[in-house]
Amino acid sequence: MITAFQQHGHGDDVIQLFEQMLREGVEPDYITFVSVLSACSHNGLVRRTMESTGLRKETGCSWIDVWNETYVFTVHDRSHDETEQIYEMLGRLKELVKAKGYAPDTQFAINDVEEHKEQSMWYHSERLALSFGLISLPVNAPIRIKKNLRTCGDCHTVMKLVSEIFRRKIILRDANRFHQFADGSCSCKDYW
Ligand SMILES: [Zn+2]
Ligand SMILES: [Zn+2]
Repeated sequence: MITAFQQHGHGDDVIQLFEQMLREGVEPDYITFVSVLSACSHNGLVRRTMESTGLRKETGCSWIDVWNETYVFTVHDRSHDETEQIYEMLGRLKELVKAKGYAPDTQFAINDVEEHKEQSMWYHSERLALSFGLISLPVNAPIRIKKNLRTCGDCHTVMKLVSEIFRRKIILRDANRFHQFADGSCSCKDYW
């Protein structure tokens, strides 16, 4: 069913069904993951609007495993049971990283309205996954996130700062490589 939705370009239905599967404890197999990934890459809704403005961009999805369950996040995702706490944590993160000197690098924002750039970038899928990890995992546990696309430079900066502020190891596997963030720096030395 997931594959059928994906083949017909119903990206939202793919994600919804996938999340339902996970909630109900149905183990996803290889085919399911491939379909979910392609749906994320070819979500017809995307962000349609972009084609009409001459832009094309794949949808980013991030995954995180918490207590043997896999949780999927898309940009601006509000579909999770703990959405309120996740967004609360994200708001807290913003203040903490700003206090550490973070300034948003809006070249990574796809929203073309200047005043919305910073806002839209703050809700990239890996940051939602990161916040969820911070509120759900034990304080010493490393946070492992996977992403179907290359992570953006701004998320990379945020991950570095969060690793320092929370003294947490964050491992992000993006489309290009593994990033291991610890004590404010990344194993890739900012080249990736
Ligand atoms: Zn990003
Ligand atoms: Zn890195």
